Amino acid sequence: MRFLGGAREIGRSCIELEMRNGRMLLDSGINLGSGDRNPIEPSGKVDALLLTHAHLDHSGHSPEIVRSHDCPIFSLPPTKDLSELLLLDLLSLTPKDERTFSHEDVMYLRKKEKLVSYGIPFSFRNAEITFFDAGHVLGSAMIYIKLDGKRLLYTGDINLTNTRTVRGAQLDLPEVDYLIIESTYGGNSDVHPSRKKVERKFVMDIEKVIESGGKVLVPVFALGRAQEVLLTLIDHMDSGVLQKVPIFVDGMIREVNKIYTIHWFWLRPELRNKIRALRKSPFDHPYVDEVRDRREIADINEPYIVITTSGMMQGGPVLDYLKHIGTDRRNLIYLTGYQVKGTLGREILDGKRDITLPRTGEMVHIEADVKFADFSAHADQVNLLRFISSIKGLKEVFLVHGEEEKMIDLEKKIEEKGIAVYKPSLGELVKL
Ligand SMILES: [Zn+2]
Ligand SMILES: [Zn+2]
Repeated sequence: MRFLGGAREIGRSCIELEMRNGRMLLDSGINLGSGDRNPIEPSGKVDALLLTHAHLDHSGHSPEIVRSHDCPIFSLPPTKDLSELLLLDLLSLTPKDERTFSHEDVMYLRKKEKLVSYGIPFSFRNAEITFFDAGHVLGSAMIYIKLDGKRLLYTGDINLTNTRTVRGAQLDLPEVDYLIIESTYGGNSDVHPSRKKVERKFVMDIEKVIESGGKVLVPVFALGRAQEVLLTLIDHMDSGVLQKVPIFVDGMIREVNKIYTIHWFWLRPELRNKIRALRKSPFDHPYVDEVRDRREIADINEPYIVITTSGMMQGGPVLDYLKHIGTDRRNLIYLTGYQVKGTLGREILDGKRDITLPRTGEMVHIEADVKFADFSAHADQVNLLRFISSIKGLKEVFLVHGEEEKMIDLEKKIEEKGIAVYKPSLGELVKL
């Protein structure tokens, strides 16, 4: 097993598994913050790429891998559609001279895609592989591999608690020898408040700003977070807790919403039933509107809410909104997701107010209030430990997808349970 990316860092998740008769990659992502964009090159011909979910830190490098190794790519049906959308969006946001894959590469990737389902094992070479529900976003999976008598589980990104769109990760798993687990929120101070509490505070804060005539900018990840935020606002408007003001949706959120509706089968049962009963998308609402002209919206003098990408403000429409909504002290910027070190979102969250916009280099002074809502789709420390404890047969735990300080906290807690734990470094080879 070689760690090609996502080792003591968040971004470019990629693990190489060398077998007697082939080589597999588990995820092939890119870095969204600063630092090297791509994972390290695999050490030989890749025979299969297994994809946990569509977020670009897990899938962003897949077009290049499939193009250069001509290998099949295995994922859940929603991941196939979502990753195509995210990859094409990434392509459109990348300047021509910096592009590392083309539109044709993404189309070719689609052709090489093999669809799998939760809980149904399939064979690849001498490995038996099963995808299990990871509860992170629509179609997200953990990958379970039986190989030469060894049993391995790679969590990808996991969430154990139910959210508005998906159920928490599956816990009744077969025995595992080696667990490779994400540690985004592995730190001792990482305790997610209950989703109910988070939603209530989020809605009340927004209500206050609207009440006093301000506007609210909510930067979100298009996949997962946007749907959670949108359903929260819609629900609270319908129940009368939140004033009815326009919610403008910008970026490719609408396309992701469509895929969530098309793939309703993979949503949590409560939402699935609602869609079947209403026979319409749960994201369609009289107050939710698509943005056609950003300048037009900038001229509106009434309160409104904008939900837009990118979630860490590294690019996308959010930068345009930052220039007018962000510079007025009556307004509110509500961050809703993990802000990776080195991103503009992280700088603003850490208190920086004189900021330089990525790409254009434009200087902006932030006057709006800045808040953070913990709408996380990742398990916190308590839940990561709960997950580890629930696994039978465990010999060793490998920590990936986390900042080093948080990993050290989590490592200590796992060791206290008497379980061997290891933090592989980038490029490191581990024999199982
Ligand atoms: Zn993810
Ligand atoms: Zn991730």
